[in-house]
Amino acid sequence: MQPLPSTNPWDDDDGFHEECGVFGVWNATDAAALTALGLHALQHRGQEASGIVTLSEKGGFHAHRGLGLVGDIFGDAKVMAGLKGRCAVGHNRYATTGETALRNVQPLFADFEFGGLAVAHNGNLTNASTLKRALVRRGCLFQSTTDSEVFVHLIAISLYANVVDRLIDALKQVQGAYSLVALHDGALIGARDPMGVRPLVLGRLGAAEGGAYVLASETCALDIVGAEFIRDVEPGEIVVIDNNGLRSIKPFGRGQSRFCIFEYIYFARPDSVMEGTPVYGTRKRIGAELARESHVEADVIVPVPDSGVPAAMGYAAESGIPFELGIIRNHYVGRTFIEPTDQIRHLGVKLKHSANRPTIEGKRVILVDDSIVRGTTSKKIVEMVRQAGAREVHMRISSPPTTHSCFYGIDTPEREKLLAAKHDVEEMARIIGADSLAFISLDGLYRALGHAKRDAGNPGYCDACFTGDYAIPLTDLEGHPERVPVLLAANGQ
Ligand code: SF4
Repeated sequence: MQPLPSTNPWDDDDGFHEECGVFGVWNATDAAALTALGLHALQHRGQEASGIVTLSEKGGFHAHRGLGLVGDIFGDAKVMAGLKGRCAVGHNRYATTGETALRNVQPLFADFEFGGLAVAHNGNLTNASTLKRALVRRGCLFQSTTDSEVFVHLIAISLYANVVDRLIDALKQVQGAYSLVALHDGALIGARDPMGVRPLVLGRLGAAEGGAYVLASETCALDIVGAEFIRDVEPGEIVVIDNNGLRSIKPFGRGQSRFCIFEYIYFARPDSVMEGTPVYGTRKRIGAELARESHVEADVIVPVPDSGVPAAMGYAAESGIPFELGIIRNHYVGRTFIEPTDQIRHLGVKLKHSANRPTIEGKRVILVDDSIVRGTTSKKIVEMVRQAGAREVHMRISSPPTTHSCFYGIDTPEREKLLAAKHDVEEMARIIGADSLAFISLDGLYRALGHAKRDAGNPGYCDACFTGDYAIPLTDLEGHPERVPVLLAANGQ
């Protein structure tokens, strides 16, 4: 669960990194092309690698995986022609566990006694290492270093007769956050962890496509393939889609729902709808709450693009202060084309962002951003805005202070590297060089989501990176092997 070192020497790795995106379709023409399009819409959830596994009419599986962006991996007509079949699952990877190697690129695929199974997983298992040690002791040979492979081995050793029962058996033994799609020659399966931390939605293509079912991490992936949104897969629900239609299984009973609140602040694409709530409107409401909570006299509201834009719009509308694109983002920053020397490394932030001087010069500026992680990027942006002639720079953040790391599928630095874990807001303002700094309050965030305030007994969302309230046990981290559930017992070992 350690964050990966950045592979880009310009990148000071200051920020949250998205997790993964999954997509699946059952019984549609051009299943591979639909999946590639879906993964393209989910590119923001992972840019390191992608893979697609298809199932052909004759029962054979076809797979292609690669490192890089979806368009580069699946832009080759020959590759797409090889992905035959009317059923497919796909995955975009941002590596939260395991190194970036082709063997870790999903969907993972394994041949079992019941046939082939491809699995694509978004999330992070909090007892993966503990389970893995037990599985290795039993003789399981791991091919990858990703925790998702634990699912594959748990399914393999399960004594249940059919694949769905084996999957349920496996899911009852894992802890953590998961949204997964799996494909075998009888069905497409979607599953969410009992608290529903990571998203998974169900959609349906039109009559021309035979009403084929689609599963995806976000609704923006349904939109791109022309599928109609049906509903979210519920926390703890398993949906089994086959030629007879859709079947829902709820093996975990009803527990507390803890959808990741950061999806609304930053991770999800703004045109997605999460758990019935449109992301874009929520971000604007967060900005309006922020304006009410932490007003300061200023001449202009400037978002830190792109993720700060909707919150800044909400802030501007509520405060009546004009909104300007005072920082322009370069969208074409990929791997660096220049090896930086120490003398010019500090220019790195300008590769991504530049100040739009005429909108800033001589003004009192309110900068709106979504979060402060280590603080290094905020410091550079404040400095850049000052250099462009701003008279005052006030920073407003559309999330509460990030005081804890995420162990549920988002790559965050260790706690000691989080600025808010070590400093109060005043100190943070001084460190980043802002005239003032304010974060939305936890209750303000919940108000923006339509609640009166945070209910500590049942918040309804995961907000552990702001509160340290980890609802799912951190078994590997805390070293509690006794929490490993029934791995051997369930199999009569
Ligand atoms: Fe989301 Fe934060 Fe919870 Fe991680 S800890 S799942 S980022 S709310």
